[in-house]
Amino acid sequence: MDRALEDFLAEKLEEISRRSLRRHLQALEGPQGIKVRRDGRELLNFSSNDYLGLANHPALRDAAMAEWERGGFGSGASRLVCGTLSAHEELEAAIADFKRTPASLSFSSGYAAALGTIPALCGAGDVVILDKLSHACLVDGARLSGATIRVFHHNDLGKLESHLRWAREKYPHARVLVVAESVYSMDGDLAPVSEMVALKERFGAWLLLDEAHAVGVLGEEGRGLADREGVSDRIEIQMGTLGKALGAHGAYIAGSEALREFLINSARSFIFSTAQPAPVAAAAREALKICRSSEGDALRTSLRQNLASASKQLGLEEASSAIIPWIIGGESEAMDVSAKLLDAGYLVPAIRYPTVAKGSARLRVALTAKHSPENIQTLAAELAKISPTDTPRLQTR
Ligand SMILES: *Cc1c(COP(=O)(O)O)cnc(C)c1O
Repeated sequence: MDRALEDFLAEKLEEISRRSLRRHLQALEGPQGIKVRRDGRELLNFSSNDYLGLANHPALRDAAMAEWERGGFGSGASRLVCGTLSAHEELEAAIADFKRTPASLSFSSGYAAALGTIPALCGAGDVVILDKLSHACLVDGARLSGATIRVFHHNDLGKLESHLRWAREKYPHARVLVVAESVYSMDGDLAPVSEMVALKERFGAWLLLDEAHAVGVLGEEGRGLADREGVSDRIEIQMGTLGKALGAHGAYIAGSEALREFLINSARSFIFSTAQPAPVAAAAREALKICRSSEGDALRTSLRQNLASASKQLGLEEASSAIIPWIIGGESEAMDVSAKLLDAGYLVPAIRYPTVAKGSARLRVALTAKHSPENIQTLAAELAKISPTDTPRLQTR
């Protein structure tokens, strides 16, 4: 054991703790769901991205088990090495059909999709323009690409336009890629996608839209925000994840046939990484089926009802996605409110720097189709007691 390394680690951890930024893994006793068990206690869970409650759906389990029996568990290698499995091909056909794109490519995670796709499309001499609140994997993908990076204030179309103009003047022959989410993961608000599409078209740029928190939740059949706005076919690179509302694991890039072929040949996180296990791909395909069915519609209806009721009871404007931010500000204050809620039996995580900007720490209340009206009522009552609305709270929108 190297002493210098141990000293370095201890010192760094102490510094993180001092700034109230220390994180700990907490083991659950049993599966995740609306109710979870931790430290021998039952907690009401408002922290999951399993917005439709599909993660433990029997049909997903059955699909995974059937695939397991048909083709085994592990993929053995990268899909380019061992040969691609039919489960992956079937999943990708289902995603393309769902997204109404000519093709799609699945990745082992959303993080891998971003890290592989952005550097495949842009490099030194190109420009990537990101929304300031973009997910870490989009930021990391942009950094890894070596392109010049420009960031615009969250949802600020004026700033996006001036960056696009700047990019076109300074680098007339460069590839310019705009990167944004459709639903922002820590604020739950929506991007002005129609306006962004119009802007990137005016300047001959491309758009990568990450619909991680919109797929399954927004739009007809849960196809996402771009589809709801009718601009889906004008977005070159459509990203989504399979591990949130779809309850499985992995992610996709949907777009043209050439985009898929190019990523197979250029996205390093695809080429040099073991493929998602086939049973996981089969579960994701089953989730898509449910998402598009009347059962999916019913789940979205109950999610919408829960959101309307929670927004009202919390005294906030109606939530536009499954995520409701309760902004507190200080890192330690947010931790304190979260700890008190935990004592009262509610799992509502505090989100703080570096996930969100310093001084904008918050509770991230994630609702699902499976919460009952009573679950929401009791949470709102408890929160009103612990964090009354007359304490100063920043609003992000
Ligand atoms: C969760 C998330 C990802 C990463 O997806 P994983 O499959 O969990 O790696 C990417 N983008 C956004 C916006 C996310 O919220």
